[in-house]
Amino acid sequence: MHNQGDVIIIGAGVVGGAIAYYLTKKGKSVIILEQDEAASGASGGNNGQISIIDRKPGLELDWAKESMELFKGYEANGEFETDLEITGGIALFYNENEIEKGKKVIKKYNDIGYNCEILIGDEIKKQEPNIDTTIVMGAAYCKEEGKLNPFSTTIGFIDQAIVKGAKLYQKTKVLNFNLENNKIKEVVTDKGSFYGETIVVATGAWTRDLMSKLELDYKIFYGRGSLMVTNPVEQCVTGPIVPGSFTIGTLYEGNWNLLGLTQHKNGTLTIGQDTRSFNNYNKGVSYDGTIGLAKHFAKHFPKLTNLDVVRVWSAITPHVEDSLPIYGYSKKYPNMFLAAGLKGAFTIAPAVGKMAADIIVGDSYDSRVNEYSPARFE
Ligand SMILES: Cc1cc2nc3c(=O)[nH]c(=O)nc-3n(C[C@H](O)[C@H](O)[C@H](O)COP(=O)(O)OP(=O)(O)OC[C@H]3O[C@@H](n4cnc5c(N)ncnc54)[C@H](O)[C@@H]3O)c2cc1C
Repeated sequence: MHNQGDVIIIGAGVVGGAIAYYLTKKGKSVIILEQDEAASGASGGNNGQISIIDRKPGLELDWAKESMELFKGYEANGEFETDLEITGGIALFYNENEIEKGKKVIKKYNDIGYNCEILIGDEIKKQEPNIDTTIVMGAAYCKEEGKLNPFSTTIGFIDQAIVKGAKLYQKTKVLNFNLENNKIKEVVTDKGSFYGETIVVATGAWTRDLMSKLELDYKIFYGRGSLMVTNPVEQCVTGPIVPGSFTIGTLYEGNWNLLGLTQHKNGTLTIGQDTRSFNNYNKGVSYDGTIGLAKHFAKHFPKLTNLDVVRVWSAITPHVEDSLPIYGYSKKYPNMFLAAGLKGAFTIAPAVGKMAADIIVGDSYDSRVNEYSPARFE
C-alpha cells in the first residue's frame, strides 16, 4: 500500500535522508514525509563546512571520523557526488582571551590524534592568504576539516533511497499522531494517514512543535542564519572559516555578528552568518543583516570586495538545551526514533544515518548513544 512502510521518516533533510539511505540498503521499505521539499530546511541553506573542533570528543567525534570514510565511498562507488574536499579549516579569534581558550580546545583534539594548531597573526595567511591579519588576531587550525556540497549530498542520499524503493511525499505535513497501546499507530498528515512499524522523527528545528502533539517537551530551540552567495570566481579562500565562538563554545552568548564562509568547488562563495534567535520559523532576510554581513566580510577580506552577490537567504537550525543531540528511541512511545538537534549535521550525517539503521533493524547497538536518549526530556 502506498501509505504503509516498515519505517516512516518525517523530514527530508540530510539526517532523514541518511537514515532512509541506510535503511533501504538493509531492505526496509521506507516512506519519507516532507512538509515542504527535500532539502528545503537547514540542509539546503548552509555553508557546507565539515567541522571537527566544535565536536565533543567521544561518539560525536567518532561519527565525524567514520563519516569522512563513508563520504569518500559514495563518490568512489558512483552513487552520488558530495564534492567533498579536505582542505583544513580555521576558526577566527579576535583577542587574547579567545586565543587562550582556543589553545585549550586544540590541545584536547591533538591529544586524540587530530592535527590542530593555533596560528597567530601572519601565520594565518599560510591557510588563508587573503585574510586581513590586522583584524583577526589568531585562529585555530584543523587539518582534517573540509567542505562539501550540502545540497547534492542531501538529495544524493534521498535519490539513492528512492532507487532502492523508498517513497518520498513532498508538501506533506505531519499534523498529528494516533496511538494504540502507547505506540504510534497512525501518522496523520494534511494529505492523509501513513502507517509504519517505526516512526523516525528527523524534523530539525521543527521538532519541539511536532512533539508537543504527543505531549512531549524536548528542549530544542532554533536560530535563523543568513548567508549570501557570490558568482563563481578563481580560488581565493582555501577552506572553511568559522567564528571562533563555534570552537570555544560561546556561540549563543550574544554576539551575532559572526563570520563563517566557504568557497565551493564551483568557485562560488557562501558568506555568513548573521545568526539570531527567532520565533515562528521566520526565514526572511533583513536589509540590515545583509549589509552587516557584506561589511563584516569586506573588513576581513579587503582584497575581495569586488565579488558579485547573487542571492541571500536564511535557514533555521536547531540547538538543544544541553547541546547534545536527541537521538534514539523514545521511552514514552517505544516505536518512535528521534534524530534531531544534531548540530553541524553534515560532518556526522553518514554515521548518524548508518547507526540509526543498525539500531532500528536490530543489527547492533552502541551504548554510548544512551547519553543522547530522548528519555532525558520525557
Ligand atoms: C546559515 C547556516 C549555516 C550552516 N552551516 C553549516 C555547515 O557549514 N556545516 C554543517 O554541517 N552544518 C551547518 N549548518 C547546520 C546544518 O544545516 C544542520 O545541522 C542540518 O542541515 C540539520 O539537518 P536536519 O536533517 O536535522 O534538519 P533539516 O534540514 O532542517 O530537515 C528537517 C526537515 O523536516 C521537515 N519537517 C519539519 N516538520 C515537519 C512536519 N511536521 N512534517 C513533515 N516534514 C517536516 C522540514 O521541512 C525539513 O525539511 C548550518 C545551518 C545554517 C542555518
